[in-house]
Amino acid sequence: MRNKMITLCPTSYELSKKMPNFSAWVRKMVLENGQKTGISKPDREMLHRECDTFVVARWQHTMNGTYAWFGYCETCECDVRWKVR
Ligand SMILES: [Zn+2]
Repeated sequence: MRNKMITLCPTSYELSKKMPNFSAWVRKMVLENGQKTGISKPDREMLHRECDTFVVARWQHTMNGTYAWFGYCETCECDVRWKVR
């Protein structure tokens, strides 16, 4: 976990103090926003066609400024990247 300072107005500050777990709430909102905008997605299992096994894939930024699924196939012992259409 890392810290990030945020700025609140007096009203939102008072309201935030009454919330039982403000940090968890902020994390949830930020993650939801990332998923809506396509910047972040939860890890998922993707099929590696070469060996027909499922590999855990992460949604990551690529060199050319787009996003793609990346994973490591234990069966083939190689990095795998799935193209998004
Ligand atoms: Zn494979």
